[in-house]
Formats: sequence, structure tokens, C-alpha cells
Amino acid sequence: MSHLKPILLSTVFALTATPLMAQEEQFITIGTGGQTGVYYVVGQSICRLVNRETAETGLRCTAPATGGSIDNINQIKAGGMTMGVAQSDWQYHAYNGSSDYEGDPFEDLRAVFAVHPEPFTVVARADSGVETFADLAGKRVNVGNPGSGSRGTFEVVLDAMGMSMDDFALSSELRPAEQSAALGDNQVDAISYTVGHPNGSIQEATSVVASTMVDVAGPEIDALIEANPFYAKAIIPGGMYAGNDEDTETFGVKATMVTSATVPDDTVYAVVKAVFDNFDRFKGLHPAFATLEPEEMIADGNSAPLHPGAERYYREQGWIE
Ligand code: GLU
Repeated sequence: MSHLKPILLSTVFALTATPLMAQEEQFITIGTGGQTGVYYVVGQSICRLVNRETAETGLRCTAPATGGSIDNINQIKAGGMTMGVAQSDWQYHAYNGSSDYEGDPFEDLRAVFAVHPEPFTVVARADSGVETFADLAGKRVNVGNPGSGSRGTFEVVLDAMGMSMDDFALSSELRPAEQSAALGDNQVDAISYTVGHPNGSIQEATSVVASTMVDVAGPEIDALIEANPFYAKAIIPGGMYAGNDEDTETFGVKATMVTSATVPDDTVYAVVKAVFDNFDRFKGLHPAFATLEPEEMIADGNSAPLHPGAERYYREQGWIE
């Protein structure tokens, strides 16, 4: 996946810089995640397409690394970001005021489109003997950084399994970019990440040390899927990562693009148009995007209402009534 390397992305920016200005520039920011995840590529890819049209739209897009889903939603709410990538479970909770957003709904949250599936992923050192989620009891586990959707969903799973952070010998809060090296250095027995596949973080983790992708399944997970529309069964295909030839059974969410009702329709329209007018190009920017279909992207994973700017484009395409 050499195209994931930051060096190539910066080359891309150099190529798209400074067209003639037809109108005043408006800066937009897309919140992503850690640099070794897939959100970062989603944001960089969208900005790359948006910035090809700057002369016409006036929009100049940047997509910095962030703490992940919950951080992005909160920054959009605070007006510090225009858009962001967020897990479908956290989109749901933020809009409906449930779970971590209990009593604090973000009513202006708007869906733009859903992107790739994100399986809940746990990788353990082979020498830890961990084979199931319950085996994590007594182990040193990286539960993820606060502000990430991944960390939030990890807590939901813990709860569903009747476990708590106290069951671990250590619960560290390393960011995605740090956790793979910590696994390799034997500072933790297992890492967790709700993320699209393949990605740089899990690729690094599985290549620095002999590792096992942990099944996250059973009656507790079935009950979680049953009770929540935004969860579904998921498989991480065997053969994708070093030393893990068998399929891994788990559950997952979708990555989604979200924004606020306060962002102008023309802005969201221009972003959506840049992506879908150049959809083959977009799909080619990461293997996790390869199977995306527009009709699914605007139907699945979105629990907040669609932003009217996005709706305008989808209607023009005949994808919605
Ligand atoms: N789903 C993760 C989160 O919200 C981020 C995954 C990624 O960066 O690709 O924290």
C-alpha cells in the first residue's frame, strides 16, 4: 500500500496547488483520525478532489489528523471544523443524545454519505495466548485514545461482555500511530481499533510481532447487534495480514461523513459533487474504498438527516426522490 505514504500525498498537493482565483477562497476543514488509519486517507482524498475545483468553487480544503470520530463530531459542533469522518454508532448517539451524548444531543448534526465498513478489530501478541475477547482479562490492553470512536466502541463491548477496565492488568490509551510499536515492544499484549481494512496500523502490528486477530463474537455480541441498528456482523478476511490466514469473525460499523446544518448548502454540495463526479478516481485512492457504491453510501449508516446540500446533488443524480 505504498500510496498510503504521506510523501505521496504531499506530492499530490503540490500538483493541485494555486489555480487562478475566480472568487474569494473559503477554507474548509475535514476532521479525520490518526495518520495510520483510513479516515486520514478519506479526508485527504476528498480534499484532493475538492482542491482540483478551487478556481471554480473557491473552496480550499484541508484534512488534519485528529483524535477520531468523537473528537470530529465535537469539533464540528463547536464550529472548529466543517465536516468530519465519524463511525455510524457515534453519529447515531450524537444526533439522538444517547450513550456518551446522553442529555446533550447535537440536533444540527447532518449526514453526508457513508464510506467503508469498519470492523471492531483486536490484535493480540501470539505469545499472550489471547484467542477471544474474554481472554483479555488479566492482560495489558491498549483501549485507544479518548475522543476516538474506537475507544468509545471498545467501552460498549466491555460493558456488553460484563467486563470493565479493572479486569485488565493495564489499560493504555495510546493513539493508533503508537499502538503497533507498543505491541511489538511487548509493552501491551493486545491492541484494539475499529477501522477499515487493510490499514497501515494493523499491517504494522501484524508484521512487527507474531500475532493473532481475535474473534469478537458470541451471544453477547449477537445481542448487541440485535439491539442496535448501526451494528452488523463483520469478517476480516484471512490472508489480508501477515500470519493471519483464517477469517476473523467480529462485528462492525460504517465510517460516515458528517457535518452541521449550519454549513452552507453550496459548500456541502460542492464537496459531494467533487467526490461523486470523480468517483472512480476516489475509489482508487484506498483499497477499503474499492467496493463502494453510491446508492449504498447514501442509504446505509446515516441516522442523522442528510444535509440539504448533499440531498440536492443526490436528487440531481436520481439517487433519491
Ligand atoms: N474509527 C476510528 C475512530 O473513530 C478511526 C479509524 C480511522 O482513522 O480510520 O476512532
